[in-house]
Amino acid sequence: MDAAALERHRIAEVGTATIASVYPRTVGRNSFRGSHGNGGRHEVIVLTTDRGHVGWGPPLGPVGDARRFVGRPVAELIDPGLGVAEEALPLDCALHDLAGVILDLPVHRMLGARGSTALPVYSGAIYLDDLDPAEAPAGISAVERNLALDAAAGYRDFKLKLGRGYRWMSRAEGLARDIEVTRLTRERYPDARILVDANDGYSIHDAAEYIAATADVGLYWMEETFAERLEDLLELRRLIDEHSPSTLIADGEYRPNVPVVTKFAAQGLIDVLLMDVLDYGLTAWRRIMPTVIEAGAAISPHAWGWPLKTLYAAQIGAGLGSASIVEGVPGTTTGIDASAYRFEDGILTLPERPGFGLPLTSDAIRR
Ligand SMILES: [Mg+2]
Repeated sequence: MDAAALERHRIAEVGTATIASVYPRTVGRNSFRGSHGNGGRHEVIVLTTDRGHVGWGPPLGPVGDARRFVGRPVAELIDPGLGVAEEALPLDCALHDLAGVILDLPVHRMLGARGSTALPVYSGAIYLDDLDPAEAPAGISAVERNLALDAAAGYRDFKLKLGRGYRWMSRAEGLARDIEVTRLTRERYPDARILVDANDGYSIHDAAEYIAATADVGLYWMEETFAERLEDLLELRRLIDEHSPSTLIADGEYRPNVPVVTKFAAQGLIDVLLMDVLDYGLTAWRRIMPTVIEAGAAISPHAWGWPLKTLYAAQIGAGLGSASIVEGVPGTTTGIDASAYRFEDGILTLPERPGFGLPLTSDAIRR
């Protein structure tokens, strides 16, 4: 790539635009949080260079006074081979997009093109909707309906939320429902990869019961069974090795202590690392990747709850490799043209378009 091209572009303007995530249905509770709603509006950063090239992306944390970037050569803010300079980390996504646009390079190529550009994407939207409405809970038919809706939208693999007994039901009832939903999903979708996620709502005793009761389901992975602790992870590994040896342990999503979770990965206690697309960021993922590879772990950057984050997670997977499946947030994003991405039969195929390949449209309110 002609990285020198980035020397010739200076940031002329740092603006904002508003996009919105739109879910196909209201998404209910997980193990500890109430309704996840219908989507939401997001303010994103729009960078324009003195030569008229545009890149955009959600900010990573507070941007502060954006005027400090005006006049700066793009080459000072991002090295396409490494990522974004420390001072410009809030612009991580926008600068990757902009550098891709200037260099006529898709982000996944800038990241190294180490993975496939056609990646399985699971539905991450199978929440605890059986518990709502609170006054007359729908029961598991609500979960069946959600599975059917997402299957009709092209998903072939599903992640089930678990942990009903953490806050919403008694421990025994919650665990029984978690098991029932898991078994039912396997019955209805014999070929699906089934992922499960307790959002840290299980004890090791819950996990032991659940794993024994679903041993024949062939779970693809167990995510955030409990907060990452050495003794519990050792026991989880032992239980999985005994009952369901092909099941992966996925963790590192919620407020991860990254040095600790990568150490657990190196010890064989976490198989898939989940740090968030935006909270952690592209540049951080690029920096940690040699450690992840050395640990022998896989990656699947956390993408809930923006459909856009699914596309970014797929770009990271296609770029950095080691991603066997991507978290899908069903729905659409207003204000962007995502039509170059194809999703069919459970597989998302990335475009060979510069940057993220996601131009803003006139619906994105520019300011
Ligand atoms: Mg999760």
